[in-house]
Amino acid sequence: MRCDIVSETCPGVGCLKAFNRRTVYFRDYDQNAEMIAFFTCGGCSGRRVHRLVKSLLKHRVDVIHLSSCMQMDNYPECPHIEEIKRTITNANIKLVMGTHH
Ligand code: SF4
Repeated sequence: MRCDIVSETCPGVGCLKAFNRRTVYFRDYDQNAEMIAFFTCGGCSGRRVHRLVKSLLKHRVDVIHLSSCMQMDNYPECPHIEEIKRTITNANIKLVMGTHH
């Protein structure tokens, strides 16, 4: 999951390359791991998160990564990150804080 604001200028190459190459926050996944979704929060205040998490549960998602851009100093600080994290963990989905940085 990534920041909707950042997605206006970022095509997500860093996240996708890191997954494809199994580097940084994806280094522990074996080659059988699949990325089944790549989406934004829907804009402040993370308005799509609850609905998308619900939808992902139907597809038996194991892990959600929050993109590095949601947590880095050189991007706008996400004022809703704690709520977004809670929505994911309350659904009993493993949360990893980061993708490629
Ligand atoms: S809620 Fe956070 S991650 Fe989503 S658009 Fe706003 S600042 Fe970005």
